[in-house]
Amino acid sequence: MKISALPIITPDQSSGMVPSFEQALALHHALPLKAQSISTLQVNVGKVCNQTCHHCHVDAGPQRTESMSKATMDQILDVLDRTPQIMTVDITGGAPEMNPHFEYLVEQCRVRNRKVIDRCNLTVFYVKGKAHLPQFLADHRVDIVASLPCYEADNVEQQRGKGVFDRSMTALQNLNALGYGIDGTGLILDLVYNPLGPVLPPPQVELEQDFKEELGQRYGIQFNRLYTITNMPISRFWDELRETGQLEHYYTLLLNNFNPLAVEGLMCRSLLSVGWDGRLYDCDFNQMLDLPVQPESQAWIDRFNLTELKHRRIAVGPHCLGCTAGSGSSCGGALT
Ligand code: SF4
Ligand code: SF4
Repeated sequence: MKISALPIITPDQSSGMVPSFEQALALHHALPLKAQSISTLQVNVGKVCNQTCHHCHVDAGPQRTESMSKATMDQILDVLDRTPQIMTVDITGGAPEMNPHFEYLVEQCRVRNRKVIDRCNLTVFYVKGKAHLPQFLADHRVDIVASLPCYEADNVEQQRGKGVFDRSMTALQNLNALGYGIDGTGLILDLVYNPLGPVLPPPQVELEQDFKEELGQRYGIQFNRLYTITNMPISRFWDELRETGQLEHYYTLLLNNFNPLAVEGLMCRSLLSVGWDGRLYDCDFNQMLDLPVQPESQAWIDRFNLTELKHRRIAVGPHCLGCTAGSGSSCGGALT
């Protein structure tokens, strides 16, 4: 059974079984969970990826075919033109650079003076026809958020595949040579850490210091910030938890570490997620669970209506416990 078949409560289904996330919110008077603004569009341009990581919540890989069309990107650009409140476009995937229109989207967002984030797996620069991308990203002053679950080769390759570590180190060194991650250049290079298994991430500040020391001393690599992200119990990681009999344990861990202070900063309260086909979601995780924004009649980019969406009620489920456990978790790292 996939988690999408679990009793997830959407705003239209407020009776029956109550998942623990809602109980926890109710205990802290945080129900219903509502958006406060839309300052970021997180655009998932497709599920194609050159890697097949064990924990991937997108279930991405080389065999996937879902990819955002240029027409859908134009609808996003139209929304940007009439919505100055949206200051950041956060491009994700899959490996977003695998979308044939990736560079068009970046260029057009930058022309519109929006901050652009590329969620990069680093090894995509070694895919045929992609070697120019580091320079392209630097030229357009795109922030790079790169995945790196450890500074030890074995741990990285256990999660992300053989050969990934060495290529990641070389890619980071090349980005440094372009000015990424170097003080004073304004070219931002952030790293993302997620645990190898069903545990919570360690404290972000201390781990960032460890990464800076280890990557600096061993490989001469510099970066700006390290973000810790909790593994969400969905998709491949959910399958792995279930197959190894650890699913219940993991939910209990997340619930027992529910942190009410994380609720205020939940990314779904200031972000709107766009799927590869133009459908709208409260976040990338809801997107993977096929849980669109409510009301569903508004859940398409070509029907974007800021007034309707900016204070929308957020569709939540048991997976949301991953965002409120411990220090909290979001695409921008810890929340508290
Ligand atoms: S690089 Fe990212 S998108 Fe690609 S398989 Fe790994 S986690 Fe998924
Ligand atoms: S998974 Fe996290 S970001 Fe998404 S709706 Fe739930 S709490 Fe919000």
